[in-house]
Amino acid sequence: MKKIVVIGSSNIDLIMKMNRLPEKGETVTGAEFFQVYGGKGANQAVAAARAGGNVAFISCVGEDAYASQMIQQFKDNGIDTSFVFRETGMPSGHALIMIGGQGENYISVAPGANDLLGPEKINEALPIINEAEMIVLQYEIPRKTLTHIINIGNEKNIPILWNFAPAQEFDFSYFSRINILVLNETEVGYLAKMQVENEDEAENAAKTLIERGVEKVIITRGAEGAFVLTEHEKVRISSYRVDAVDTTAAGDTFCGALAVALIEGSSLKHALEFASAAAAISVTRLGRNPRFLLDLK
Ligand code: ADP
Repeated sequence: MKKIVVIGSSNIDLIMKMNRLPEKGETVTGAEFFQVYGGKGANQAVAAARAGGNVAFISCVGEDAYASQMIQQFKDNGIDTSFVFRETGMPSGHALIMIGGQGENYISVAPGANDLLGPEKINEALPIINEAEMIVLQYEIPRKTLTHIINIGNEKNIPILWNFAPAQEFDFSYFSRINILVLNETEVGYLAKMQVENEDEAENAAKTLIERGVEKVIITRGAEGAFVLTEHEKVRISSYRVDAVDTTAAGDTFCGALAVALIEGSSLKHALEFASAAAAISVTRLGRNPRFLLDLK
């Protein structure tokens, strides 16, 4: 089976669900506490593996109790972890998340070991990258690592699927070297420096990226659907109608499943539908698939 190499972050998310968020300096008690696996890289690797992909994951974890649990979870999902590096003297990546009664939140991320996924680690992982039929990236690892991977992918003619999230500054000249860019409305608005609140605005913003040389731009629009834009066509699909209970990581599930469908040769429309089905299932589950609760025993 063709290999997908996902390169990106692994985190542990520590989540407090409460009736309302605290004011500055205030203590609010009575919260419910959850720990879940996160990190966009890890989420996408797990999603791709659960969607049937042959997945290798390249990532850095720290020297803490979570690191072994994370690696074990990857293995349990059938993911090749030969190049999940363990960094001594560093914590694993952590996100502290507070969620209020209306779903409003505070989120703070400490990248920890993720910041140590440098170009030299990518060089070490070349044996597995050489086997890749597709590379999947996000933006929770250092910028210089991403440019290095894009250079390698281009040299070796390996298609790159990049979920440009969270959106941050990046050298635009690299965009012409990306095959598939996946963005939500906020991210495409950020990149195009345009306000994006509906499909027409999203399409106009996506066009500016096609003009910069991206081959395929895929825009996800939550419950509204998704579309792919190329120089020659636009293909649009609707989202499945489900009762959403937790939309965190919907985009990650979408990207992981999308990579699997594309690598297996699906048409763009079918790949979008497959990705959308996987993401729809994920939003119906709290903290699961791929954000599964940690075993707290
Ligand atoms: P992100 O999580 O990156 O912000 P979106 O919110 O656009 O991304 O969601 C990604 C995909 O997940 C959507 O294109 C859709 O297929 C699916 N999805 C998200 N929210 C829902 C929902 N409420 N109902 C059904 N599908 C959803």
